[in-house]
Amino acid sequence: MKTVPSKPHSRPSGPRRPRGKNGGGSKRFNNRHVRGPSPKPLRTSGMATLKETELVTLPPIDADTIRIIPLGGVEEVGRNMLAVEIPEGIIISDAGFQFMSEEEAPGIDYVLPNTRYLEANKDRILALFITHGHLDHIGGIPYLIDRIGNPPIYTQYLTSLMIKKRQEEFPHLPEIQMNVVDAGGRVQLMAKNGGNPVTVKTFPVTHSIPDSMGLSIATKHGNVVISGDLKLEHVDGEPTDEEKKVWGGIGKEKNILFVVDSTNAERDGFSIPETRVYKTLEEIISQAQGRLIIGLFASNFHRMIHIIETAEKLGKKVVTEGRSVKTNIEISERGDFFKPKPGTIIPAEQICDYAPDKIVIIATGAQGEEQAALMRIATGRHKTIKFTQRDTIVLSSSVIPGNEVSVQKLKDNLYRHGLNIVHYRSSDVHSTGHGNTGELVWMREQVKPTFMMPAYGFHSMIRCHANAHIKSGYPKENIILPDNGMIIEIKNGTELSIRKDRVPSGPMMVDGFSIGDMQEIVIRDRQSLAKDGMFVIIATVNIRTGQLKKSPDIISRGFVYIRESQSLFSETRVLIKKTVEDLTQGMNPIDLEYVKNNLTDTVERYLLQKTSKRPMVIPVLIGV
Ligand SMILES: [Zn+2]
Repeated sequence: MKTVPSKPHSRPSGPRRPRGKNGGGSKRFNNRHVRGPSPKPLRTSGMATLKETELVTLPPIDADTIRIIPLGGVEEVGRNMLAVEIPEGIIISDAGFQFMSEEEAPGIDYVLPNTRYLEANKDRILALFITHGHLDHIGGIPYLIDRIGNPPIYTQYLTSLMIKKRQEEFPHLPEIQMNVVDAGGRVQLMAKNGGNPVTVKTFPVTHSIPDSMGLSIATKHGNVVISGDLKLEHVDGEPTDEEKKVWGGIGKEKNILFVVDSTNAERDGFSIPETRVYKTLEEIISQAQGRLIIGLFASNFHRMIHIIETAEKLGKKVVTEGRSVKTNIEISERGDFFKPKPGTIIPAEQICDYAPDKIVIIATGAQGEEQAALMRIATGRHKTIKFTQRDTIVLSSSVIPGNEVSVQKLKDNLYRHGLNIVHYRSSDVHSTGHGNTGELVWMREQVKPTFMMPAYGFHSMIRCHANAHIKSGYPKENIILPDNGMIIEIKNGTELSIRKDRVPSGPMMVDGFSIGDMQEIVIRDRQSLAKDGMFVIIATVNIRTGQLKKSPDIISRGFVYIRESQSLFSETRVLIKKTVEDLTQGMNPIDLEYVKNNLTDTVERYLLQKTSKRPMVIPVLIGV
């Protein structure tokens, strides 16, 4: 008996993205700006094409050239990773990951930057600098650090704790080489080419998590300044003295290139300063008549700490709900970023021991995540906390694009309890951790770089960021609009060119235990299954006569409601029998593989005609 297994099944979905076409070669960069919107077809769901440019070795760079290669994070928010290559070696900034929606990549846990170029050049890597502890900057470390040769990591204290905490979940990995630095300090790295050591200076930046920093990498013709995620602390658009000091200091040196956060560059002016959010929250906390429940991002350390400190000052107790909130508070305590008095943070079970106006609950789930604390309380699925009409909810976060539906569901569930809700549209209870264009332009004016590269964000954000600089008088031919995998070269600190070739940049996907950049077929199959289900045909074929032993079996899932589709199924059975027997007529020996492929096409076409759906058709032909 011979079974013919089905081949991996996939149909091409949409045009494939051409690679290596967008560079403009070694021409001057200003050509890129006349082209208007990029003509390249978008990849379906941003997945890699199977034929990535396999370019992992580049000609050595000469002493006067620097190479900038964004490996991730400039076509999306997330998976930030940037390589700066100079003759002395390669310095990497950040190693993040990106969450994927179920529609984009069903079943995929995370997407990582593509590190193939770094893997092939790992003996030239000098160091990995991590700007701050958010997952889009540190999340890739456990998956990637070993692949790129376990280079030394340089970062600030809190970030080092967060990296180590995550690393505990991967005990099989070799120990990481962690070096804690202060923002405002400098690191000397031994050159790999026998040249002088490379100096990297770090500087503090304002972001929603403590110990955020930027980098300034010294090269022969000037510095490459990388911002990390940041905004400015300011009063009505006037940056504070502290900001002026930091940025003024950077501007005193010669800076060739400034790589800057674009996450909030679709907004003009200055973002709401965190101090205003603190003030609003302080008022709400002091005036709350009943219990106060504050939903926020656990990654917003500063705000969590401030809420706890304010509650403590007002003699209130704090309950923390949600794993990430608990973990991050624990890390802040461990790192001495704050020390709540014993008894300030109480377990949820003790809520009833205190008057309602003495309780502040900090919870995860302001994005409407189904399993997060806020939604569980809102839908009555929480063990100890039940809402009452006297409670006040503060949603201290904005809605991340893509989460609108789940946030709406959360709000509806909250309002059903008849309680009072405060959100960022009604009051200043949230500010972003990323600067608006007013802040970005101000920073650039301080740094005075020869070239600018808007980074960290979707292409639309990067464009808006670039436009803001152009509007403020910065020459547009000096602005780089990066794509992942692009190889940018600057010679003598003044000549900018984009190489025609690219390094592999297709996202690497973490799918359970496997990591790879070739899983497009798997994702497409999952998408196709999710959309129209599957249709399995099992038929036993007499390999001498080509006759079917009996009427074929059909198993379908997620395709049509079987009970109402009996006639479709019996007609399809007749079609299958006829197709197999017609195809095998006079065939000797019978080629089951050929029959199977033809049968797939025939049945697919038939089902499409009958139902306007395209289930995944999987024939299993058993030759006897
Ligand atoms: Zn961040």
